[in-house]
Amino acid sequence: MENNDNENMKCLRCGEEMVTANLLMYPASQPVVQRTRKGLLSAPVQSGTQCLVCIKCGYIELRATQPHKLKFRTE
Ligand SMILES: [Zn+2]
Repeated sequence: MENNDNENMKCLRCGEEMVTANLLMYPASQPVVQRTRKGLLSAPVQSGTQCLVCIKCGYIELRATQPHKLKFRTE
């Protein structure tokens, strides 16, 4: 997954440059973040995620790849 929005992301803990990595789970897939609301008119909204890892201290960060998709229409 290429996403240049995350270039030059610095580790929140130690300030080192972070690299993109695949967060593997079994069955293997990238996690999805989803928001739901009660009510028939509120379809769930969701976004894929991207995993960034600090190769110095090991800090791992997940970022939504399409954060704008996590807004409900009425928000
Ligand atoms: Zn770090």
